[in-house]
Amino acid sequence: MTYPVATGDCSAAAGTDPLYERSAVIDLDAIRHNVRRLADAASPAKVMAVVKADAYGHGAVPVARAALEAGAAWLGVAHISEALQLRAAGIEAPLLAWLHTTESNFAAAVAAGVDIGCSGWELDRIVAAARDQERPARIHLKVDTGLGRNGVTLEHWDQLLGEAMEYQDEGLLRVVGIFSHLSVADEPERPETDEQLAVFREVLAAAEDAGVDPEVRHLANTPATLSRPDTHFDLVRVGLGIYGLSPFEGQTSAELGLRPAMTLRTVVSQCKDVPDRQGVSYGLRYRTQGPSTLALIPMGYADGVPRVATGGPVRIAGRTYPVVGRIAMDQMVIDLGNVGAASAGLLGAEAVLFGSGDDGGPTADDWAVAAGTNNYEIVTRISPRVPRRFINDHPAVGLSSGTPSDRSPANGQETP
Ligand SMILES: *Cc1c(COP(=O)(O)O)cnc(C)c1O
Repeated sequence: MTYPVATGDCSAAAGTDPLYERSAVIDLDAIRHNVRRLADAASPAKVMAVVKADAYGHGAVPVARAALEAGAAWLGVAHISEALQLRAAGIEAPLLAWLHTTESNFAAAVAAGVDIGCSGWELDRIVAAARDQERPARIHLKVDTGLGRNGVTLEHWDQLLGEAMEYQDEGLLRVVGIFSHLSVADEPERPETDEQLAVFREVLAAAEDAGVDPEVRHLANTPATLSRPDTHFDLVRVGLGIYGLSPFEGQTSAELGLRPAMTLRTVVSQCKDVPDRQGVSYGLRYRTQGPSTLALIPMGYADGVPRVATGGPVRIAGRTYPVVGRIAMDQMVIDLGNVGAASAGLLGAEAVLFGSGDDGGPTADDWAVAAGTNNYEIVTRISPRVPRRFINDHPAVGLSSGTPSDRSPANGQETP
């Protein structure tokens, strides 16, 4: 959760600035824009901003704050430990954690007012924690409607419901929510979403018959929020979309009205001329075809750039080049062609791996293709060795809290 963050003016394009040298720039205005866009799509349902995994690599605390400023009503994480970090940062919004083990600290969750997802086995432990803390637990019962991960099976739903209601009557807990998770919402043509929705409706009907009246019923993730209003219920849980990325193959962020919030960039660390047939990087899997100029990019798999993603794009001075040869732990190489190092003049030039895509530049989607994975993984895996630089930390005037904001292009306010 904590990254090395430099103080002072980080907009300088030269000098000894670690944030200019290598950084993942997180545009908090883009986060706010995306939350508003998703809130529009979800309305009248409310938005839970999913900030698990350090906000998919974007920085959980600053992203959570920006999401709340833009109208998110809830926050969601996987682990109680992630929820406690948000509470420790002073974030008091409703907050749900849904993935637990026998080692999870339910007492700390109850003490911190963190809502706890319950798939069944946790119920007695949650109740013990509530007794211990002398405070009722807030739980969301999770049903497996077809994904086959956590959640109680249909077979045991009535039993779990009955037990939870007994504990609620004893004042040990409150059933705040009932929820489930979709399997194929990113593939809108598949029938399984309808099947899961039908099962979820049955489950809710059974709960109603049992006299359970939860505050929030929730099922939708980002793709369902954007494509299936019938899955919205009271609350949508959106992750990928608030980071400005598209969950749909063949539909870009821009087509969905979203703005990618992370730009991964660095500077060229060496530029040199090499002869024909020069081998490049471990294994010598690439050789120049003719005399050529190589540019060294100081990022590698220790920074979270996938080692398998040879061919991934790097944008320098308005042109996009593929990575050649193997991606190493700390560095990778691009071949500028037969330009001559001196005339290339690119030592210290900015090199962008991915960003908004606005200027025709590369995106996280391009790296996902190069790595044979999805855009979720590309942003989430950017490692703590890459400093996060938060820009547009304060909401623009008139949009949200009314705090005056420095909107200059080089605005580089850091959030420690
Ligand atoms: C991660 C997660 C989400 C968010 O999914 P996106 O596709 O990123 O919107 C929602 N609900 C649960 C249970 C999750 O684990």
